[in-house]
Amino acid sequence: MSLNIHYQEDFKDRHIAPKAEDRDAMLAVLGVSSVEELIEQTVPQKIRLKQPLNLPKAKSEKDYLTTLKQTASLNKVFKSYIGQGYYDTITPGVILRNVMENPGWYTQYTPYQAEIAQGRLQALLNFQTAVIDLTGMEIANASLLDEGTAAAEAMFMQYSLRKNQSAKKFFVSRLLFPQTVDILKTRANPFGIELVIGDHLTFGLHDEFFGAIVQYPAGNGEVYDYTAFAQQAHEKNVKVTVVADLLSLTLLTPPGEWGADIVVGTSQRFGIPMGFGGPHAAFFATKDEYKRSIPGRIIGVTIDSNNNYALRMALQTREQHIRRDKATSNICTAQALLAIMAGFYAAYHGPKGLKLIAERTHGLTITLAESLKNAGYNVLNKAYFDTIQLDLHDLVDSIKRECIDNEINLHYNGSIVTIALDETTSFEDVKLLTKIFSKVKAIAANAAEVFEGNIVTVIPESLQRTSEYLTHPVFNTHHSEHEMLRYIKSLESKDLSLCHSMIALGSCTMKLNATTEMIPVTWPEFGKIHPFAPADQVSGYYTVFNELDKWLSEITGFAAMSLQPNAGAQGEYTGLMVIRAYHQDRGDHHRNIALIPSSAHGTNPASAAMAGMKIVVVKSLENGNIDVEDLNAKAELHAENLSCLMVTYPSTHGVFEESIIDICTIIHENGGQVYMDGANMNAQVGLTSPAAIGADVCHLNLHKTFCIPHGGGGPGMGPIGVAKHLVQYLPGHAVVDINNKKSIHAVSSAPWGSASILIISHAYIALMGGEGLTDATRYAILNANYMKARLEAYYPVLYSGANGRCAHEMILDCRAFKSYGIEVVDIAKRLMDYGFHAPTVSFPVAGTLMVEPTESEPKHELDRFCDALIAIRNEITEVETGALDKVDNPLKNAPHTASIVTGDEWSHSYSRKTAAFPLPYVAAYKFWPAVGRVNDSFGDRSLICACPPIESYSESETFA
Ligand SMILES: *Cc1c(COP(=O)(O)O)cnc(C)c1O
Repeated sequence: MSLNIHYQEDFKDRHIAPKAEDRDAMLAVLGVSSVEELIEQTVPQKIRLKQPLNLPKAKSEKDYLTTLKQTASLNKVFKSYIGQGYYDTITPGVILRNVMENPGWYTQYTPYQAEIAQGRLQALLNFQTAVIDLTGMEIANASLLDEGTAAAEAMFMQYSLRKNQSAKKFFVSRLLFPQTVDILKTRANPFGIELVIGDHLTFGLHDEFFGAIVQYPAGNGEVYDYTAFAQQAHEKNVKVTVVADLLSLTLLTPPGEWGADIVVGTSQRFGIPMGFGGPHAAFFATKDEYKRSIPGRIIGVTIDSNNNYALRMALQTREQHIRRDKATSNICTAQALLAIMAGFYAAYHGPKGLKLIAERTHGLTITLAESLKNAGYNVLNKAYFDTIQLDLHDLVDSIKRECIDNEINLHYNGSIVTIALDETTSFEDVKLLTKIFSKVKAIAANAAEVFEGNIVTVIPESLQRTSEYLTHPVFNTHHSEHEMLRYIKSLESKDLSLCHSMIALGSCTMKLNATTEMIPVTWPEFGKIHPFAPADQVSGYYTVFNELDKWLSEITGFAAMSLQPNAGAQGEYTGLMVIRAYHQDRGDHHRNIALIPSSAHGTNPASAAMAGMKIVVVKSLENGNIDVEDLNAKAELHAENLSCLMVTYPSTHGVFEESIIDICTIIHENGGQVYMDGANMNAQVGLTSPAAIGADVCHLNLHKTFCIPHGGGGPGMGPIGVAKHLVQYLPGHAVVDINNKKSIHAVSSAPWGSASILIISHAYIALMGGEGLTDATRYAILNANYMKARLEAYYPVLYSGANGRCAHEMILDCRAFKSYGIEVVDIAKRLMDYGFHAPTVSFPVAGTLMVEPTESEPKHELDRFCDALIAIRNEITEVETGALDKVDNPLKNAPHTASIVTGDEWSHSYSRKTAAFPLPYVAAYKFWPAVGRVNDSFGDRSLICACPPIESYSESETFA
């Protein structure tokens, strides 16, 4: 026996599931002899890349983690007092391990299929309830992308609701964090909104203003009483947005009690690592009367088909798909996982625990302030919570040097230093700071003593909170670790995730999120870094960004990337703003028409509207392709004002359109730019590229193609790649200098968006290498075409390419079943009884299912899923023939819960076995839907978006 001592495990073989035998069996079904032959039939020759991807050789998992650990060690984990919206925090171990690091929580999709998503819907409802209570508002959504974009959404909501159409001015307190102001500038620009930056104490609002925004506590740490300001604003019909700090609201009078119309902010310090900027969940709370204008999604209470308590996304579910350019926002991916964690943090600590944390932080801040005063410093604040400012005059450099020697970061702005304390600050830390400051003044040793007098709050009585919060049992029950662990697990068990079965959501690319890719995210060298830490402390992050930028540029064929947009739709918005800046720079201020095909994802028109563009819809042909004649006519008609085309490639119909190069040429000839929506990049990597088809800009959904898990509705990242002529316009940042010559203002609060999860995509590319990535694309296409071959005899497949092949996804037409009463949702719900999450329902064509298997599913799993769909098709035939009742059948009654199936009574015309165990494999591993069919309209009629009093559902078996 000879032994191979050079054997290396290949990560590629872990990520791409089908093995050689599976591949050959699938190829035989397709009647082709090799994968390459299939690819030749699928991807048009003229857009194929001529060269293999030029990426570093694939690393093993072990080698990657070893190398990355070295890179990570280049980041210096200093004690951060920088503040500015980012605070160190303690992620409770039970939440870190069982939520943040747990695929049972991070691999789900957005909870559109409510019956198998009750766990995270409840966790998100808890988050909304905590936000409503702490802000003192009436309604809250289930997270936005970050504090700055939440502020921009608030400004825009005020703008949309303005009564006086000529009011174009928006008051911005000069004490907002600079990154928030920067994002307001970006968003205000296309609408001609004029930001007036001023002092709320002296400024007089008038008729030309539609809104105002202030910060509480303010950017300088001061806690102002805004009551008079809000009153003045309301007298002038001006609405007031407040950017608030959640932790401080345990001690401060909530904005809802002194006149705020909207309250936004970040929930980062509720146990979410700083992560060099994200991901973190922003919150948005407002009054009930504005509920139909709220951006993002709202979780609401309703009932299921058995009249039990159930949850689902309320009102504007998929609202950008329906309202398109009239949508309230372009939010698709938000920050669900982080909102879930923040909600659990609130439940774990409860009102008393949170208050103790806030009191300690506040008390230590006062201790520090008094100690520094004793040491001869002038503290500028009178009323503050956790942040103080000092004017150091010529001592700045000495303080800075001394702090760096002690591995401490403060926030410096000229001679003004800001010190923000947080949950992790201890008395010892305050002692050290006092020692440093005293040393610099070189004062007598006894004056360096830490103030140990009676600590009394410096918050004026009128601003001290008296109202209760977090009174619901959910925040007063799970305070021991066992209770919390079991609560987390009880919710997790209600959610179907990639831990159970494939989630074949077309356009969403639910592929493997490998553990090795996830592990570094929670390393302290990445997690405990403040986004505004000095550049020389973050070379580890810079190394990751530089490599990722280079690799993604190679993959897209573009000159450079911006890693700032923190969702795909934010990438769209950013790309369009870059295109806008390009036209304006050339004097083409009038170019504002965006051509968008009718089949586009709803975020495309929603983002175009945000960028101030007018949308002209391009027709599709019978076969799903873009109607090139119509496109040509519209491009010529609008040549004068054409800004761009937004096009998804391969198309949302799952086809590589042959005419794409001609399409891009037509746009360019008429003076426009081509924006490619990169959501379907999983069908391109290594075979073709956005640059090869002729696009100028594209976003990549790193949470689709590049393995960031979907987190149950976020986080994600949507970096954009641009051709050379657009590089100089890529977004800048107000605090960290990443600006190019002509950068647009920021689109995210942090310079590199949700920086810490960029590591996941970095890991994926490094582990796969160029050939591995290209194989992933090939196998994604193979898997899809195999499923198509198995399913097309049962469900008509809409649209395919010139040779009858689909790309990486396909659309199953379910519209014909309508004539015997079966809707596409019945199939979606019935799939739950078979243990599956439905594919994408009714996008891009109403009444259809869009199936995308990805390369990470083995043939065995594809077969199980096909078997389920075929069995359901047979059930439909039985309804058609009358063998099953038209109304009382397993499709209409799906999904079937355990309590229904095992109940004393069974009155249906089919058996319990048919209901719950329709195929043999189901019995071996049954996933029980937590509730029956959810009633959408019941909940919308009387909207409840906070945890209802326990009595109201104590009858319910599911949430008793
Ligand atoms: C997912 C998707 C988007 C939106 O991306 P998010 O990251 O969810 O904001 C846009 N277009 C298409 C075609 C998509 O599939």
